[in-house]
Amino acid sequence: MVRINDIVEEVLKYNPQADVELLQKAYIFSAQAHKGQVRLSGEPYLIHPLEVAYTLTKMNLDVPSIISGLLHDTVEDSYVSKEEIEDYFGKEIADLVDGVTKISKIELKPSEDSKVENFRKMILAMSKDIRVILIKLADRYHNMLTLNFLTSDKQIEIARETLEIYAPLAHRLGIEWLKGELEDIAFKYLNPYEYRKITEKLAKTKKERESYINEVKDLIKEKFEQFHLKMEVSGRAKRIFSIYKKMVQEELNIDDIYDLIAFRVIVDSVKSCYLALGIIHASFKPIPGKFTDYIALPKANMYKSLHTKVIGPHGEKIEIQIRTHEMHRLAEEGIAAHWKYKEGKVFDPKEDRVFGWLRRIIESQQELKDNKEFMEVFKIDLFPDDIYVFTPRGDIKELPKGATPVDFAYAIHSDLGHKCIGAKVNGKLVPLKHILKSGDAVEIQTSPTHKPSKDWLSFVVTSKAKTKIRQWIKSEQRERSIELGKALIEKELSKHDLSFSKMLKTGDLLTIAKEFSFETADDLFAGVGYGLYTPLHVLGKYIPEAEKPTKLQKIISTIRKGKDTSIHIEGVDGVVVRFAKCCNPIPGDKILGFITRGRGLTVHTIDCPNILAYDDQRKVPVSWDLNKQYAYPVRIKVLGDDKKGLLSEISTVMSTHKANILSAQAMTYPDKSAAGIYEIEIGHMSQLQKIIKSLQKIKGIRSVERVKGNA
Ligand code: MN
Repeated sequence: MVRINDIVEEVLKYNPQADVELLQKAYIFSAQAHKGQVRLSGEPYLIHPLEVAYTLTKMNLDVPSIISGLLHDTVEDSYVSKEEIEDYFGKEIADLVDGVTKISKIELKPSEDSKVENFRKMILAMSKDIRVILIKLADRYHNMLTLNFLTSDKQIEIARETLEIYAPLAHRLGIEWLKGELEDIAFKYLNPYEYRKITEKLAKTKKERESYINEVKDLIKEKFEQFHLKMEVSGRAKRIFSIYKKMVQEELNIDDIYDLIAFRVIVDSVKSCYLALGIIHASFKPIPGKFTDYIALPKANMYKSLHTKVIGPHGEKIEIQIRTHEMHRLAEEGIAAHWKYKEGKVFDPKEDRVFGWLRRIIESQQELKDNKEFMEVFKIDLFPDDIYVFTPRGDIKELPKGATPVDFAYAIHSDLGHKCIGAKVNGKLVPLKHILKSGDAVEIQTSPTHKPSKDWLSFVVTSKAKTKIRQWIKSEQRERSIELGKALIEKELSKHDLSFSKMLKTGDLLTIAKEFSFETADDLFAGVGYGLYTPLHVLGKYIPEAEKPTKLQKIISTIRKGKDTSIHIEGVDGVVVRFAKCCNPIPGDKILGFITRGRGLTVHTIDCPNILAYDDQRKVPVSWDLNKQYAYPVRIKVLGDDKKGLLSEISTVMSTHKANILSAQAMTYPDKSAAGIYEIEIGHMSQLQKIIKSLQKIKGIRSVERVKGNA
């Protein structure tokens, strides 16, 4: 069991000036707050904050963090208030404890959506003070160590959360030992069978493994002595979860003990790393394609090392990492190794030393409003499959796996992204959705007039590109809607000798906007442009009574007022509906709606050739609402003998069937035939069919047909 003295001792090792008195005061405070409380294990609750604080000393954290570790559950689990902590320990510690408390609270919500919210809050907390996350990680670590006291449902839930969020976070913060521990414990609960299989194998082969490790160590040492290079070499079994992952990827055979081991060579300087690599490659046969230089190209979490695989004394593969002492410390401690101990200096994520991914995630966090969007970005950024590509100037850009030239362009500059029309990779032209590989040299081609395309969203992977493209599309759509709305309103006003600019100046348009619950006149224009309202609708009271629309116009405008249309659209209302001129659909026709950006919904017949060309995503299933009666224009072509009285017989048929004739065009041909195209208003397909039948019965009529399109 950890005692407060152990914690103080650890802190003094790396921070001799630490305020020991304050640490002890925090211990007493925590002991009083948790007095009488027990954990599910039956042990006194106080053990938990002590363990958490002890873990924080392993990360070499400062005194306020250690104290916050001791106090982290006092606000949540006892009657202590944030104010009380502030009175006793100051604002800095009160804020840290508050941050940890807030994260814990959110976690309790079970639904998928609050999980996302939870990630967001974690990142938000981290962007204020990264120590909050480090304390939370230490808290989670001890909770994982004592997970066996929970119900199995809870075990699985917490283990999964740990594997999905906390272990990747520890990895991203570069704290390898903690990442490894969290992964292994979580794996034990999530896949107990495989866990046991691997641990048993490791236990069974321990002796064999140790003698093999010593054999290889001696061999390596011997080679290095010939070159008088100072070094340390060690061999160890890989971690359980990493063995499992490699088994799944078929990169590792659990029965092959060599496969379970990794060797590490530690030297004094970067130069010696490459020298050591040379010695190893000269002594053992290297396996082609298995060498990675993380010194020249460090990982996103600043991990540096040389990795190589060579053939060992028994023809087996040997994995070797080569690094300096400093790199080793960095790999184990991660962000804690970058900690600054200047007086009163708090870790500032905006500082240049902070990890690039952290800065990126914090920046995009502020721009992403939607949880789903955030989740997508967060997941990608957490999983560290990064690639490194070169700019034309030879600078290195780090991008997530799957990144395309468009991601690259946005990573350099938003403007370069917006204007990008093509790309060359290693001198060759590639499509914009080409997937980049590490080591590619990328050159972006631009055109000053080019604009981003919505299609890009289907292949870009970086948060920056996604956010910037979405922002651009949103503002572009709005701009277009405003322009269109303005033009429509201006046109309507000029019909009634009213001046748009005058009404804008006097504020009349703003008044209208407010009446329609818009904030600004531009919002009103956008509303009209987008099709929520017709200009006639919004301008209603400014138009003199005498000039109010005629009955016919009224019918048309009712049709277009969406809500009252005879078109029924699942889950949508308030959309302007217009009928396509190319096919003039009428009730009874099978129809399909098509969303036109900023112009509402256009209804086509299902067999209209024009609709075939449209993008499927914009098609909306619609149906006729036959409870409503409206008139639809339709054109019919009548071919007959050129004889007197035919026209009047035709109009009689129309009026018998109550179809209004809107227009008629007639022409005669030299063969004494005549053709007429009539535009009539009808209410339903069956009415049209009756009209056509009656027309066909007229003597001298050769053919009657409905005309679609502009024929
Ligand atoms: Mn806790």
